[in-house]
Amino acid sequence: MGKIILTGDRPTGRLHLGHYVGSLRRRVELQNSGEYDKIFIMIADGQALTDNADNPEKIRQNIIEVALDYLSAGLDPEKSTIFIQSQIPELCELTFYYMNLVTVARLQRNPTVKSEIQMRGFSEAGEDENSNKKGMPAGFFTYPISQASDITAFRATTVPAGEDQQPMVEQTREIVHKFNAIYGETLVTPEILLPENSVCGRLPGTDGKAKMSKSLGNCIYLSDTPKEVKKKVNSMFTDPGHLQIEDPGKVEGNVVFTYLEAFSKPEHFGLFLPEYKNLDEMKAHYRRGGLGDGTCKKFLYNVLEATLQPIRERRHEYEQRIPEVYEILKKGSEAARLVAAQTLHDVKEAMKINYFDDPELIAEHTKKFMNR
Ligand code: ATP
Ligand code: MG
Repeated sequence: MGKIILTGDRPTGRLHLGHYVGSLRRRVELQNSGEYDKIFIMIADGQALTDNADNPEKIRQNIIEVALDYLSAGLDPEKSTIFIQSQIPELCELTFYYMNLVTVARLQRNPTVKSEIQMRGFSEAGEDENSNKKGMPAGFFTYPISQASDITAFRATTVPAGEDQQPMVEQTREIVHKFNAIYGETLVTPEILLPENSVCGRLPGTDGKAKMSKSLGNCIYLSDTPKEVKKKVNSMFTDPGHLQIEDPGKVEGNVVFTYLEAFSKPEHFGLFLPEYKNLDEMKAHYRRGGLGDGTCKKFLYNVLEATLQPIRERRHEYEQRIPEVYEILKKGSEAARLVAAQTLHDVKEAMKINYFDDPELIAEHTKKFMNR
C-alpha cells in the first residue's frame, strides 16, 4: 500500500506563519520529495461553517485566499489534488455512519474541542438568556467525526499538521479501529506527522500568546506586505526584564527567539548577521547581555522576508489568474470526489447497506419467503 497524505485548512482567513511552519511548509517538501503516491489538500469550508453559520460570506471570500496562499507557497496542482470540502457530498455520508461509532462522552473529552469551546466562548449549556454567550452548534461539537471522514475518505496514511490536530487524528484512529472491528477490514489507520521542531507544532502569536491563530488576531500572514511584517515584528513581545542592551536577556518565552528557532537557517547569519555563526551563538550573547532587541528584530525581519518575499511574488502572479485558480479547485474537487465515492462504496458494502448491489440479499429473501 502506498503512502497518501490528507490535510487542509479552514477558509476563515488568509494563511499565517503558524500554518506555514505547522503544516504547509512540510506539505510542499513532501510533495516535492516524490515519496507519496497521492497528496490531497482540502479547503475545509464545511468545517469552517460549523462555527461561522451566520457568516457564509466570510467563508466564500476566503476560499480563494487560501487557494492563493497554497499555490504561492509552492503546492503544485500537477502533484497535489487541491479541493473544496463541501463539493464532496460523500464526506457527509461517511460522517452520518461514523457518528454511530463515537459516544458523546468521548467527544466531550477531546482536548482540542474543549479548548476551542473556551476560546470561542461557547456555553456548553446552550443559549443562555442572562449572558451573551452563544450555545455550541451540534455541528461544531461533532466536527472531529467529520474530520475522520475527510481523512479516511482518501485512505490517508499521513496527516501533516500542527499539535492541535493530534487529538483529531487520535479520534479518527479510534473510529477506524471500531469500524474495521465491526464491519471487517475496510478503512486505513492514519498517522499524524508533526513538525520535527517542536516550536513549529504550535507557533505562538506575535503577542506571546500560546498560539498564532486567526481567531486571536495575533498573526503575521503569508501575504502581509513588508511594511506590515516590519510593524508586527517591531511590536513583538520580548523579555520584559531586558531593559538596557547590556542587561542579560532571556530567550525562553521570548517570541523573537521562538520565531528565529522556527525560521532561521544557518545561511541567514552569513547574509544578515555575520557577527554570529548560528542561532546558538546569538542566543548566548543575548543571555550574557550586550545584544539589543532592535538588532534581533531587524535580523528576524530579514529572515522572515527571505521566506515571505518569493511567496508574495508568486501570489501576485496568481492573483492575475483568478479564473484559472478556480478551475484548479474545480478539477481537484472532481478528482477528489471520485476517490471519496469509492471509499463510500466500500464502506456501504462492508456495512451491508448496499441493498441493490447485493445479490445474496435477494437470494436469501427469495428462499425465506418462498415456502410460506
Ligand atoms: P481558526 O482560528 O479558524 O481555527 P487556525 O488559525 O487555528 O484557524 P486552522 O485552519 O484551524 O487554523 O489550522 C490549519 C492547520 O494549521 C492545522 O494543521 C493546524 O495544526 C495548523 N496550525 C494552525 N495554527 C498553528 C500554529 N500557530 N502553529 C502551528 N500550526 C498551526
Ligand atoms: Mg484551528
